[in-house]
Amino acid sequence: MSKITFLGTASAVPDRNHQNTHFIVETQSGTILVDCVGNPIVRLREAGIDPLSITDLVLTHFHPDHISGVPLLLMDLWLLGRKQPLNIYGLDSVLEKFEVMMDLYEWENWGGFYPVHMHSVNDPDRMVIIDRKHLNVQASKVRHMVPAMGVRITLPEGTVCYSTDTEPCVEVVRLAKGADFLIHEASGSMGGHTGAREAGVIASDAGVKTLILIHYDPVSIPDALKEAARQSFSGEVIIARDMMTLPIG
Ligand SMILES: [Zn+2]
Repeated sequence: MSKITFLGTASAVPDRNHQNTHFIVETQSGTILVDCVGNPIVRLREAGIDPLSITDLVLTHFHPDHISGVPLLLMDLWLLGRKQPLNIYGLDSVLEKFEVMMDLYEWENWGGFYPVHMHSVNDPDRMVIIDRKHLNVQASKVRHMVPAMGVRITLPEGTVCYSTDTEPCVEVVRLAKGADFLIHEASGSMGGHTGAREAGVIASDAGVKTLILIHYDPVSIPDALKEAARQSFSGEVIIARDMMTLPIG
């Protein structure tokens, strides 16, 4: 059975119990890590997930609270003896910056480094980025301070959509249409971000079954976030917690 594990749930400033927002989706057709921060190997092993099992890495946008763990992940997978290719997906501008960052680490000198296949997302409107038997992933540009993309992961068991950092926008409504789960950020109503009540409006408009709030300030009171979302959404509301696992289907 496919499942999501939330490796972090905090907005930009984490605390002891809330790492920055990133999560992993284990499916029969691949293991997808969405963003990567902190000490990825430690976190993955804590979750009981073999880091070498990751097949795909999605970079939603180039902000440190979403991608700062990537160089360490890539290096550690190499040191752990990875041979299989790793697929990395991101908007054009994100992958350009990613390459500059890795060049600063001189990754071209990492002898015997496994192949990295970069998949540039250049069509902002629901572009298919992974198309395998039992796994389809689409990406769509959303509205943040920097170029950012949300994703929709479709599996035989169900569909999961992730907004990443964005202000409330029709792009997320379109991307999440009819999904079983919408994982939406809830940093608060400020430029480029979304509050819990607004996330509820997006979930209602998209007609999703369950709204999962993530990327919230760790000092927030979970029940208050839930109540705010319930003002505008009648489906189930879950507050994501670090290391929480969610079965799909
Ligand atoms: Zn963020």
